[in-house]
Amino acid sequence: MICIFMAADQKISRETEVNFEDQEIKIGFDIDGVIADYPAPIRKMIDKKIPSFFPNKKNLRELSSYEIDKLYDFILGESPCGKEIISRIYKNRKPNKPMVALMNELREQGCEIYLITGFSDKELATKWLKKHKIEGYRGLFTRRKGGAMIEHKIEKIKELGIKLFIDNSKEIIKALPSEVKGVYYQETKTRHLEEIIKEIRQGVAELKNETRNELRNETRNEFRTSRETRTLNL
Ligand SMILES: [Mg+2]
Repeated sequence: MICIFMAADQKISRETEVNFEDQEIKIGFDIDGVIADYPAPIRKMIDKKIPSFFPNKKNLRELSSYEIDKLYDFILGESPCGKEIISRIYKNRKPNKPMVALMNELREQGCEIYLITGFSDKELATKWLKKHKIEGYRGLFTRRKGGAMIEHKIEKIKELGIKLFIDNSKEIIKALPSEVKGVYYQETKTRHLEEIIKEIRQGVAELKNETRNELRNETRNEFRTSRETRTLNL
């Protein structure tokens, strides 16, 4: 009897490895300021317009996410100068190469990549991604015009089952559900890009271990239950 169980145990552990390969970890990336650069000339161009829309604010960094939504949808998006700014942003901005490389690396490791952005023009975003050959993501989710960025991102993260999300907005990181790991993407004098990348890799490694352990436990429990059932039948 013991021999039979040992053999079955070995078989189970092999099956667990196979199952693990099929379990892909879902990673979400923000686009603006994470996958795409926010170059200084564009920031300056937007900053110049801020006081005329928000008299008590000096620049884009001082705006809350709700004010940014408002700025993009109702002011920039609908005025002729706003439309011009938006198209210039997407024409001139460059991909953030280290983040695109990391995205590809994680995908090659078997992670599923999703892009979730507060930007509301899906066509323009898709065009930009194509132009810069950013490929292999499973889905691109833009915000509905008039919708709120935080709610849009959190809803999508929950719906898709994202396990780790990278964003350059502190508000988004704070709003993430407790089961989602958040990585705040913002370079400062004391926090460099290498550290952010290290934090993401570490987060993914932890998730893989957690998934592996969960699957092993599940398989062991299933095996125990089936052994108990068989013992009872004997
Ligand atoms: Mg952003």
